[in-house]
Amino acid sequence: MSDHKRTIVVTGGSRGIGRSICRSFARADNYIYFNYFSPGDPDAEKAAAAETEKLISEAGGSAKSISVNIASENEVTNFFEKIIGETGRIDVLVNNAGITKDALLVRMKEKDWDDVINVNLKGAFICTQIAAKVMMKQRYGRIINIASVVGVNGNVGQANYAASKAGIIGLTKTVAKELAARGITANAVAPGFIETDMTASLPDKVKTAMLGQIPLGRAGKPEDVAAVVAFLASESADYITGQVIHVSGGMYM
Ligand code: NAP
Repeated sequence: MSDHKRTIVVTGGSRGIGRSICRSFARADNYIYFNYFSPGDPDAEKAAAAETEKLISEAGGSAKSISVNIASENEVTNFFEKIIGETGRIDVLVNNAGITKDALLVRMKEKDWDDVINVNLKGAFICTQIAAKVMMKQRYGRIINIASVVGVNGNVGQANYAASKAGIIGLTKTVAKELAARGITANAVAPGFIETDMTASLPDKVKTAMLGQIPLGRAGKPEDVAAVVAFLASESADYITGQVIHVSGGMYM
């Protein structure tokens, strides 16, 4: 075990899978930092982030949250400067923040393509680049990227999202190769159909069709994904890098 408190950074920790990931790290010997961002309803998002902080504190940990647009290099740089100023380290980075803006290819607007790629892929790149510089000096780091089964299989209506998640997998494998010699691992977790706000708004017909593709016969829970992220960040996973672990009830084999 490490002889210092570990600094854990999770993007998009206010809700859904990110909140569960933050909770899985809720221990007295971890500093947890997470961000969130919603231009739509800032008060609701602030309340969601405060709820995550409360859940972590009830579980014996402590967390700080900041509203940061993951697609903005300036905002992300300030976020990491604050963390490094306070703890001096980044032990674990979980690139979780993600959005969807679905449309069939021929109807997809350029802005919706750009928004999804900027948040899901460029955001992960910016965070990884900043964190990697700190991790390289430490000669230690765990980078875990949340991909999707869709990044491997494709999905009707999600050209932007599927491309972003396939990109995340390529980013993960490249980072794993470039940083392995410095004691840094990089892995991706590819969830299938998980019950969160992101999937709640899908039409019932789509949900039923997705459930029909899951051999284990149920949608996943955010905790199913968080458990694998916690494992990949633990010393039990020290010899695993460059992998994509599917958490999809067998949706993809
Ligand atoms: P969610 O419930 O919609 O939560 C998304 C989180 O990302 C929120 O905390 C949100 O913050 C944050 N976020 C969105 N845009 C951001 C930005 N520009 N900057 C910073 N934070 C931002 O989604 P989820 O279902 O938990 O998904 C989490 C990850 O898992 C995503 O990468 C998603 O693609 C992936 N995934 C999900 C599923 C699924 O079935 N749910 C399946 C495969 C992969 P606000 O609350 O402030 O908006």
